Amino acid sequence: MSYQAKYDEGGRREADRVDAESYLQNLQRRIKSLELQKRNTETELVRLQRENRELRKELDRLRSPPLITAVVEDVLVDGRAVVKSSSGPNYVVNVSHFVNTNDIVVGSRVAMNQRTLSILEVLPFSRDQAVSSMEIVKRPAVSYKDIGGLDLQIAEIKETVELPLKHPELFERVGIEPPSGVLLYGPPGNGKTQLAKAVASETESTFIKVVGSEFVRKFIGEGARIVREVFQLAREKGPSIVFIDEIDAIGSRRIDSEVSGDREVHRTMMQLLSEMDGFDPSGNVKILAATNRPDILDPALLRPGRFDRLIEVPLPDKKGRVNVLTIHTRNMNLKNVELEDVAERSENASGADLKAICTEAGMFAIRESRDYIEEADFFSACNKVLGSYEEKDSESGLIYG
Ligand code: ATP
Repeated sequence: MSYQAKYDEGGRREADRVDAESYLQNLQRRIKSLELQKRNTETELVRLQRENRELRKELDRLRSPPLITAVVEDVLVDGRAVVKSSSGPNYVVNVSHFVNTNDIVVGSRVAMNQRTLSILEVLPFSRDQAVSSMEIVKRPAVSYKDIGGLDLQIAEIKETVELPLKHPELFERVGIEPPSGVLLYGPPGNGKTQLAKAVASETESTFIKVVGSEFVRKFIGEGARIVREVFQLAREKGPSIVFIDEIDAIGSRRIDSEVSGDREVHRTMMQLLSEMDGFDPSGNVKILAATNRPDILDPALLRPGRFDRLIEVPLPDKKGRVNVLTIHTRNMNLKNVELEDVAERSENASGADLKAICTEAGMFAIRESRDYIEEADFFSACNKVLGSYEEKDSESGLIYG
């Protein structure tokens, strides 16, 4: 082969080599991009599989039939249980193997299969909505200093409620039982609730307020159950003060009534009485009640061992009115105001009226673009707040209870 031919052959080979190299590089790039694509597809696959599993679970949940709730009434020796179903009747039912039999005790809430009625689940304890929404305050922000004109009542509350909670040993030493329950009575708005809150705060107790009418329920047995739950809650949160406002709603005198609603109210009261009877008076739960109508209360409520301490919370006298006014004007900017004169003008005013008078006096000052309150504002406020009662009273001749 001539030199020229050899030279051409070498050039061709070099060109082929370069082509082959660039082809190889292309292939490698393509492989890399395919690998990346594969990885992305795999991640997408895992995501879709997870979503699929969740959707299937959700579908199963939606397809599964609802369960019936029931309350266990008795546990039999053979492992079965007697339950009261939410639909009414009692059943003797089997317990599923998946349920821990130790969890099944009298009173526990369970879920049962609709067809076989066997217990499939033990449900967590639930408190009635009415009980959960009650006013429950740990150490309310009210002290004895915020209550005016009730020194005697405060002293009595201290002796009957505070002392047994703070120093139960005093009663043990003397060998007497402290009073079980204290009933505060008197016209509305004179500080009954405030007193109960102050004693809870002073004894660092939880304040649980229930209004008597909340116990009055539509279905038979519900009121009694709520009473039980309130007392159970009080024991759990102890030390605590249970304050039953407007106790006359359930505690009025029993008459031979044929109306089933009345009988249900009486049943609720019986539950309250039995809770009080079962109470240790030296324990860390104290019961206070309030009413505007002590005259209509059932004597069973007032007998010794129940609400055996009656404390009257009357309308404040002149000195009391000055005290209440002093409390409510503590943060007010007064100029030349003699609270004695205001007290003179506000005869028959309750504590709540006096508070309203102070607020109203402030409103008069604001209306006149002043940042201080004069005596005249208080006088106008007295006329406004107390005058509206006089009008109402003369229209209807109505007085409290
Ligand atoms: P009801 O019988 O209507 O439940 P009550 O006697 O429980 O009324 P409270 O709720 O204690 O009355 O008082 C209502 C408001 O009036 C309170 O917010 C409080 O500010 C004021 N008040 C009532 N009495 C006094 C008082 N003696 N000293 C200071 N403030 C008082």
